[in-house]
Amino acid sequence: MNWLLSGFIVLVTVVYATPSVTIDVSPPSPKQGDPLWVTVITNKPIQHVAIRFNKRAFNAFPSPIKPASVWVAPMGIDRYTAPQSLPLKTTVTFTDNSVHTDTRSLLIQDAQFLQENITLSPSKTTIHTNTKSRNTETARIGKGFRTLSPERYFWFPFIWPVTGRISSVFGTERRYNGQPGWKHAGIDIAQKTGTPLKATAGGRVILADALTVHGNTVMIDHGWGIVSIYNHMDTLAVQVNDTVNHGDIIGTVGATGVATGSHVHFGISIQGVRVDPTAWLKLSADIGL
Ligand SMILES: [Zn+2]
Repeated sequence: MNWLLSGFIVLVTVVYATPSVTIDVSPPSPKQGDPLWVTVITNKPIQHVAIRFNKRAFNAFPSPIKPASVWVAPMGIDRYTAPQSLPLKTTVTFTDNSVHTDTRSLLIQDAQFLQENITLSPSKTTIHTNTKSRNTETARIGKGFRTLSPERYFWFPFIWPVTGRISSVFGTERRYNGQPGWKHAGIDIAQKTGTPLKATAGGRVILADALTVHGNTVMIDHGWGIVSIYNHMDTLAVQVNDTVNHGDIIGTVGATGVATGSHVHFGISIQGVRVDPTAWLKLSADIGL
């Protein structure tokens, strides 16, 4: 029986020497502005996962379900990234310090973003062209979007903060008074002033303030680099450092700042990349972590 036993040992050694690594990227054919969810599943305990995509590093986190061998990375494709094939490189370091790398190409589809012309009244134009306020606010918001908490405060799926007509979709190029503008970083949901707004998921409030251009604004850090923003609110019901649960009321819809009507601008950023909130809500429901 000795030869049988030694054969069995050799087989076991071979299985462990070549770990199985499965890398899943959702959605499989993403477009500009889409969120991405990368899942790394192995049969060996993982020490660390590093991902490079679109000329930068993205963080991955141990999954709460099976942290030793399943890691996940919430990511995004910038809306200004041209449609093209881009490499996604995953480096898995195991607890025994062995390394597995995987490089695959992702074909980024054209999102066919719309163009929209907005005419502002003279008083709103004055605020809109107030570059000092705009730059100060953009810097504060940008800093908020770069928050990267290793903790996870959310559970899936993320929910709509309020229901209503989508008056402007993600990625639309906005031309104010005929001037070329930026591609819309979120979606606008039209709703009556005073309608309660919900936190899209659990998290920690990192900004709650009256801004000149963006209006009354709340930003929530959901952890793992996922941050949501709500602009042009009427009233705020939360303060910085408050902990909010999934669906908690954070304030009401309004028309503060540069807004042509009562609505909420709702945005989602993943590891510093603004993604389409509609696509994120759908993806988060599909993944169901
Ligand atoms: Zn907007």
